[in-house]
Amino acid sequence: MDPIINAVLKPKSIAVIGASTKPEKIGYKVVENLKKSGYQGAVYPINLEADEIMGYKCYPNIKDVPYVIDAAVVTVPAKIVPKVVQEAGEKGVKGLSIITSGFSEVGDHALEDEVVRIAHEFGMRIIGPNIIGVLSNSDQMNASFANFLPLNGKAALVSQSGALLIAMDAATYTRRVGFDKMISIGNQADLEVADLIAYLNEDENTTCITLYIEGLKNGARFMEEARKCTKPIIALKAGTSAHGAAAAASHTGSLAGSAKVYEAAFEQCGVSQAQDLNDMFDTTLALSLQPMMKGDNLLIITNGGGVGVLATDAAEKYGLPLKFAPEELQAELRKHMPSFGSAKNPVDITGGAGLEGYYECIKYAYPHTWVDGMAVLYCETAVTDPQEIAEAIYNAIQESGDFSKPVTVSFVGGDRCEAAMRWLIEHDIPTYNAPDLAIKALTTLRKQEQMLQTAHNRPYKPTDVDPAKAREIIAAARAKGRDALTEVDAKNVFRAYGLPVTATELATSEEEAVRMAAELGFPVVMKIVSPDILHKSDAGAVKVNIKDEQGVRDAWKVIMENSLKYKADAEIDGIAVQEMAPWATEVIVGSVNDATFGPTLMFGLGGIFVEVMKDVTFKVAPIDIATAMDMQSEIKSAKILQGARGELPRDQKALANVLAHYSYMVYDLNDEIAESDANPVIVYEDGKGVMVVDARIILTKK
Ligand code: ADP
Ligand code: MG
Repeated sequence: MDPIINAVLKPKSIAVIGASTKPEKIGYKVVENLKKSGYQGAVYPINLEADEIMGYKCYPNIKDVPYVIDAAVVTVPAKIVPKVVQEAGEKGVKGLSIITSGFSEVGDHALEDEVVRIAHEFGMRIIGPNIIGVLSNSDQMNASFANFLPLNGKAALVSQSGALLIAMDAATYTRRVGFDKMISIGNQADLEVADLIAYLNEDENTTCITLYIEGLKNGARFMEEARKCTKPIIALKAGTSAHGAAAAASHTGSLAGSAKVYEAAFEQCGVSQAQDLNDMFDTTLALSLQPMMKGDNLLIITNGGGVGVLATDAAEKYGLPLKFAPEELQAELRKHMPSFGSAKNPVDITGGAGLEGYYECIKYAYPHTWVDGMAVLYCETAVTDPQEIAEAIYNAIQESGDFSKPVTVSFVGGDRCEAAMRWLIEHDIPTYNAPDLAIKALTTLRKQEQMLQTAHNRPYKPTDVDPAKAREIIAAARAKGRDALTEVDAKNVFRAYGLPVTATELATSEEEAVRMAAELGFPVVMKIVSPDILHKSDAGAVKVNIKDEQGVRDAWKVIMENSLKYKADAEIDGIAVQEMAPWATEVIVGSVNDATFGPTLMFGLGGIFVEVMKDVTFKVAPIDIATAMDMQSEIKSAKILQGARGELPRDQKALANVLAHYSYMVYDLNDEIAESDANPVIVYEDGKGVMVVDARIILTKK
């Protein structure tokens, strides 16, 4: 655990720089909140005139305090912040929370940089600026201007929005979702989300990390820390419009948006994405209170057929379809329900079943080896008391002595149910007012387990690559003043990274083209080679299925003519003569550099699938072979690759190999390649491989 970050988040002593005697000031609020929250450490208000604030002795300058100070909370106006940070550094303060706003969020980057520079000179770290502060139940510390500590619990919130943090703080009481900590990170001038993930992963009072994110400073660091984190992370990402995606010169550029890239990145590093605020609370409740789900066997126990069916639907929708319980388990459960009940799964103990039915069934089923996770549903009835049922559920779980698997509960009913649900939550059992929410929570616990398993796999690094060769080709193109590679050059770069491309020769005269075609063997394909004509068919500069010498001569003339018609001053290297790949399933692979996460890989089926349906999927590069297989099943048209309508399955292994190599190429050359695509790539029947027939690389601006 980083001792400096620890000193900021768990200080033994705090100076409030800018403490005020005026109750309407933030500098007063912070001191008051520290007092109200029962903070046990020393508090030193720094104020030029006052003798004491709220019973704490004041000092005119932090350097006048004769004791050691761990952290300083800064509330003075922005202009004075550099000065007080300097003084805090000279005093030997370890870290700062800077509440003051008026920095990069209003465009003043210089002032913010200055403050960070001074802090780092003294080895201090900063949370903020532009924050609410830090709140921690386990430290009885409200070092913020939010009015009170959140409902006590085990989650930790890291929020980029201050206003939302204050609202969530209050909402914890009505939603009954408990947090140990709430940390406002504001502008992330110094400490960023990634640092807090690393810290909270080691914090004994945190079981689950909840993030509200508007933008990350460094996507790669975020992914790295999230990958290392062994606690579940749930993130709500706001602001899904494209930011910083490079101008869309390629297909991938126009299809990539920051929302899709965030979604991919979260998945790749094991972060569950919340759909909205409700989802964020609901998921936090389950992730903070329950262990992860280690297998797919979900058992539902219900007293109502209706909620049982809704839950069954939800289980399928969220990817954990129900299976029938084993016969032996069913036989035992049948003993505790009327003859018209069902022990299959959902286990319907029927409306007539009282607390004994729940108690006996749960006590037997919950610790059963077949069961990996359990949802208990209850519909309010005339003959049962929700509170008694709640207690029966709780007691059965307690007495089973097994706490290794998750359980969630849903009560549907009126006020009596509300009270019983609160009671269950207070006893660490996530309880929801709709059956689908109880199921969704369990499926997230399952997904978390699966993501944590795969997220730990380190990205792939192939060995059959020749980066020096690729860089040589790129350097030569740059030397000619080019900002894009021709297909011929791009294919050579692809080849250097182990990608299968069609044999391609560059002809600079008609005679040369004739000779090359004969060498390659007919039929051949001919295409213009020009850095100024990136979409060659649009210019009428691609001729396929050329069968003989006369065909080559005709194609030469037509391609040259069309190219010059398309762009009179086009720089032309010549015409590519290439082997004609037999037709099969067409896919597209591409990349674009995302402003936050760097190079990202796109994959989809070619033709109308990409043009019309935009059926593509993204990953942050590089990816391994397993992830490359996942990409192929993530697209809606996945069945086509798997062999739909009597067709043989395509060579998905060879395609995975191409995707992984491609992702490594764009990752490794990310300083050179801004965007790229292989469109199309032809995928043959299983065992027969893959062929890249077109290649496009747009270079980064240098
Ligand atoms: P562009 O995308 O610049 O218009 P392509 O190189 O993709 O040019 O060529 C256009 C189309 O021609 C491809 O989508 C593919 O259908 C076909 N094609 C191109 N090269 C080959 C080849 N070597 N073998 C088979 N078909 C090809
Ligand atoms: Mg193409």
